[in-house]
Amino acid sequence: NAKRSGRAQWRLFDATMHSQAMTRLILEEEIRTALLQGDFVVHYQPIVALADRSIVGYEALVRWQHPERGLLVPAEFLPIAEDSGLIVGIGSAVLDQVCAVLAEHPDAPGPISVNVSAVELACDDWSERFLATLRRYRVEPSRIIVEVTETAVLSLTTHTIASLRAVRDLGAGLHVDDFGTGFSSIALLRDLPVTGLKLDASFVSNLDAGVHDANTLASGLAALVTHLGLTGVAEGIETEVQAEALTRQGWQHGQGYLFGRPAAWASRTG
Ligand code: C2E
Ligand code: MG
Ligand code: MG
Ligand code: MG
Repeated sequence: NAKRSGRAQWRLFDATMHSQAMTRLILEEEIRTALLQGDFVVHYQPIVALADRSIVGYEALVRWQHPERGLLVPAEFLPIAEDSGLIVGIGSAVLDQVCAVLAEHPDAPGPISVNVSAVELACDDWSERFLATLRRYRVEPSRIIVEVTETAVLSLTTHTIASLRAVRDLGAGLHVDDFGTGFSSIALLRDLPVTGLKLDASFVSNLDAGVHDANTLASGLAALVTHLGLTGVAEGIETEVQAEALTRQGWQHGQGYLFGRPAAWASRTG
C-alpha cells in the first residue's frame, strides 16, 4: 500500500514539473510574439525634488499589454524573460519607446531613467546598441539615466564596467537601484562611475513605522550620498510622514505613489 501511494505521489510530482515546464515554454513563446507585435509598453513615473515637489525626471517601467490577461507588471514576466535571454529584446523595445518620447518632447522635465538588467549588460554589444539607438533618435545621452541594481552589479566583469563607462563618458547618468539590499555597496562606488543612488523602498516603508534602525540607516546613507557628491533618490514614498523624514535626512529626490503612479506618457499625472 505504501509503495502504491509512493508511486502515485511520484506521478503527481512528475505531472506538476511537467506543467511548470509547459507554462514556462508557453510564456516564452508568448513573449516572442509580444515582441513582434509591439505589446510591451512603457509607463512613466515622476521623480520629484523633495524640497519643492517639482518634477526632475521620470522612471521608465515596462508593462506587457497581454491580449487576454490585460496589463502585466514585470514581476509576472521578467524572471522568465531574463532566464531565456528575451529581456534583451524587451530592453531594446523599452529604450526605443523612451527615445521616441524624448525626441518628441525636447522640453520634457529632466532625464528618463531606464532599468538595465545584468543579462543585458553581459551582452558583448550592449553599449554599442544602446548608443546607436540614442543616435538614431538624436537623443542626447545626458537625457538618459541607466539604472542597474546593486545585485546586478555584483556580477560585473571588466567588460560590463567598460560598457557602463562608455555610456557614462558620453554623458548618460548611472544610478544604483535598490541600494541597500545587496552586498557590494561601498566597493562598487569606487569601481563604477556612479552618479546617483536609489534608496530601496524597504527602508522607506519602515520610516513611519517608527523602526529606529530604518531612520539611522536612511540618514547614514543620505550623508554618504551627499559627501560623495551623488544624487540621492528615495523610492516607494507613499506617505507625507515618509517624505518629510527623508527630506530632513537629506535625500534630494523622491519617487512614489505620493507624487504619482506609473502611467502611459499621454496620461501621466504629477
Ligand atoms: P525598480 O526599478 O526598483 O522600480 C520601482 C518599482 O516600484 C516599480 O515596480 C514601481 O511601479 C514601484 N513603485 C513606485 N512607487 C511605489 C510606491 O509608492 N509604492 C509601491 N509599493 N511601489 C512603488 P514595477 O513597475 O512593478 O517594476 C518592478 C521592477 O522591475 C523594477 O524595480 C525593475 O527592477 C524592473 N523593471 C521595470 N521595468 C524594467 C525594464 O524596462 N527593464 C528591466 N530590465 N527591468 C525593469
Ligand atoms: Mg529602477
Ligand atoms: Mg528600485
Ligand atoms: Mg526593484
